[in-house]
This record gives sequence, structure tokens and C-alpha cells, in this order.
Amino acid sequence: MIVKDVKELIGNTPLFQFDAALLGGKSGSQIFAKLEYLNPGGSIKDRLGLQLIHQAFLRGEIDQETTIIEPTAGNTGIGMALAGIEHGLKMIFVVPEKFSLEKQQVIQALGAQIVHTPTNKGIQGAIEKAKALAKETPNSYLPLQFHNEENPAAYRRTLGLEIYQELHGKIDSFVAGVGSGGTFAGVAAYLMKQNAKIRLIAVEPEGSILNNGPAHGHEIEGIGVEFIPQFFDGLMIDAIDTISDDEGFRFTRHLAKNYGLLVGSSSGAALASAVRESWRLPSGSKIVTLFPDSGDRYLSKHIYEGESDLDIGGKNHAF
Ligand code: PMP
Repeated sequence: MIVKDVKELIGNTPLFQFDAALLGGKSGSQIFAKLEYLNPGGSIKDRLGLQLIHQAFLRGEIDQETTIIEPTAGNTGIGMALAGIEHGLKMIFVVPEKFSLEKQQVIQALGAQIVHTPTNKGIQGAIEKAKALAKETPNSYLPLQFHNEENPAAYRRTLGLEIYQELHGKIDSFVAGVGSGGTFAGVAAYLMKQNAKIRLIAVEPEGSILNNGPAHGHEIEGIGVEFIPQFFDGLMIDAIDTISDDEGFRFTRHLAKNYGLLVGSSSGAALASAVRESWRLPSGSKIVTLFPDSGDRYLSKHIYEGESDLDIGGKNHAF
């Protein structure tokens, strides 16, 4: 495969098949995970970065001189920086301090600039800072992924379609983590249009508020919300799984040790939820989930140190 543009490497990621029973799930059921960490920027957000930049150009909202400013946990920044390279766009990303150093280094390697906001102000603090910066920067553009309909649209047109086609429509449940809610809502919208019987399962870390909180910090990175995503309006969600840091990281380490899949903690949390979902469904079910990013961007956070035992037969069965 010869390519001449990094954008050609975005999307069409492989779907990894797991025997649910080997992960502590129901015997006879299967879990499929889209390996989104194999996108060139290392995450699912390459799809969004491409869409945001492309559509903004198409709509005439940006030109070659525009400064893009965005609050991001890191992966969206990497995706946008990748998409902006060919245009030489200037980019500034507002990142809460707690987010991984590696993601910030990758953003800088791609030529973009980082502005920090205090960890205790959360993503809301980053959003406010980005808005203030945009106000004082001439010819700036603020995509605001949390409120931009291009966010779910990016996944509806690409990821939702890929998943449905790869599994020939044989899907019982779609399970995905929620940060901005764009990937969940976009893929869900596509799948619902094909088959409204597919179950939708949202995943959040303990400390997020989808299951009514209580809100607090968590180590699982990339998912968890401080407000209900606007993209969830009109979506019928069948279950929300709240996953503890311990469970999410156990699954993350288990994936590395037993399957050679080096993914981040939001992938571990998604898999933990997919295993729970297998127990809610009859044997023979097919559950599809997403592994949003790679684990090597969290090495400084020692994500691979600790237990990888899934405690099979123990607490993972008690739902
Ligand atoms: N996992 C990781 C690692 C992420 O960075 C993100 C985005 N913050 C998500 C999952 C959730 O994606 P979304 O914003 O589309 O809900």
C-alpha cells in the first residue's frame, strides 16, 4: 500500500474479535473492538480533526492564515494538527494540566502550540480559556467540538458505516465511552437508522455524572463528563456503565499482556462495559465497541504497572 498523504491513513481501522468468555463474559458471545488507536495520530479523533478542518474550509470559515483554537484533552488536538499540516495552519490547543504529557509532546511535534489551564477547573475551564483566547486573536476559529454538530457527523459518515458493513449488520449492542459524546452519538445515529433494535450502551468512569455522579476526579483518561453532552438529545440509551479506575486499568493491562493490544484506559473501560453487556444478553450475542487511543501516550502515567487479572468469577460477574 503506497500513500502520499497522511490523511489517507485515517479510518478503515481493523475490528478485533474477542471470545467474551475469555474476558469473564458470557460463553458463546463475541465482542468486537474497532482498533481506532491505529489511526496515524494514534486515536479515533483523527477522524474528527479531518472533518473539522475540511468542513471549516468548505464553509469558508477558515483560510490559510486562520489560527485554530480549541480546548482538547489532547487527542482532538493531535487529529486537527494532522489535518492542518498540508495547509500550514497555526493551531493553539488549551489543555488542562492533568492530561498526559506524551499527548502534549505529540501536539507540539506536529507544530501546534499548547496553553495550559488548571486541572481543578476541568474541561469547562479549558473551554472558557479557549473562548477568551479566540476573542483576542484576529482571524481565529474555535471549532468547539463539544457543541459542533460536525463532531457526531464525522463518526456517523465513517465509523458507523465501517462497523455496520464489517459486521454485515449483525450487531446486538454498541458500547462506547463518552467524553464529548461525539463518537457515541455519531455511531449510534448511523446504527439506529439501519436497525433500531441495536442496544446502545454508554460508558463513563466513576466520577462522571451520567449515572448521577457523584462528580470527582478519575484516572481513566479521555472519557467522563461534567455535563450531559448535547449530542445525546433524542438518543435512547439502554444502559450506562460506570467503570472504576481499578476495573478500567485492569482491562487495559489485560489487553496488553494477553492480546498485545497497547491501548489507553478508555479502551479498557469500554471493554469492561462490553463484558458486562454480554451478561445482559443471550449467549451468541455480538457486541461492538471502540478502542479510542494508544497506550504508549500514557507511559509516563505508568498505566501498565499493576494488576491485569480480571478477577474472573468474582466481581466482574456481579452486575
Ligand atoms: N477515549 C479517548 C482516549 C478520548 O480522548 C476521547 C475523547 N476525549 C474519548 C474516548 C471519547 O470520545 P468522544 O469525545 O467522542 O466522546
